[in-house]
Amino acid sequence: MPTTFTMHAPAKINLFLHITGKREDGLHLLQSVMVFVDVGDELEFSPHDSLFLDVEGPFAADMPSPHGNLAYKAAQLLSAEYKVPMRGRITLTKRLPVASGIAGGSSDAATALRGLAKLWGLPEEKDRLRRIGAQLGADVPACLTGRPVWTEGIGERVTVLPDMPAMSFVLVNPMVATPTPEVFARFRNKFSPALQFSGRRKSMHEWIADLKLYRNDLTSAAMEVTPEIRGVLAALRETPNCHFARLSGSGATCFGVFDHAQAATAAVNKLKHQYPDWWVSAASLMA
Ligand code: ATP
Repeated sequence: MPTTFTMHAPAKINLFLHITGKREDGLHLLQSVMVFVDVGDELEFSPHDSLFLDVEGPFAADMPSPHGNLAYKAAQLLSAEYKVPMRGRITLTKRLPVASGIAGGSSDAATALRGLAKLWGLPEEKDRLRRIGAQLGADVPACLTGRPVWTEGIGERVTVLPDMPAMSFVLVNPMVATPTPEVFARFRNKFSPALQFSGRRKSMHEWIADLKLYRNDLTSAAMEVTPEIRGVLAALRETPNCHFARLSGSGATCFGVFDHAQAATAAVNKLKHQYPDWWVSAASLMA
């Protein structure tokens, strides 16, 4: 058994999110480019006779009971699939706000699957982990890649985009939990036409020009649930050098895109000063 090790559970950003239809089971079909960033939760894994999950960090108090935690559910599914006992101590440092559109729970689940597979000495079987992940949430297969992806279906059809250029972001959350099911329940817009998306290599400025043409189709529904999103988007758009600002996932986290890390840091300092109650963070894309 390996000794103690830690893994980053990155936040996800939907650079755009189009809703293209609805399945008979009520789940929406979407198209999105999702990226993962250097900001996130952290999971520490160490040997232990039984499975034990400890949660600490700034948002630990907002977590469900340990057995309701997606990291714990990931351990249960992995143990059942490989018929191995649930062992190990996981310490989850919860740094991402909960129910905020940046897939904190899904990313914790994906990282728990990868970390426990390593701790338990399981064979490296990405497809099998992906199948287990899909049972935990539609975003989990994308979170397992940790890389920029084009996603379709309900999020389970994932294509890695290997040539994404470096990008800098500012993430802002007004600290209002925004449950995904409530947002989808308010979605009444017409469906977007399906895009023929090309993953060809593009410069950062070509990417930005393309992304500006797209949207997050959940924005108006998310604003009905959390009206503060309007102010967050306006504040981001007013920061110098922000190319565009948009909602991520079902919100309430919004992101601004900047040319480089210094511009993002300057925007973070300005926003933290103006809005001390908001969660504001600079973030860089993990390629
Ligand atoms: P998405 O972007 O995938 O819609 P989200 O960022 O909006 O996700 P999460 O923070 O993943 O939302 O939380 C969704 C729900 O999952 C919350 O109601 C929370 O109680 C539950 N949950 C279970 N485990 C976790 C976890 N490890 N981290 C965050 N939320 C968790």
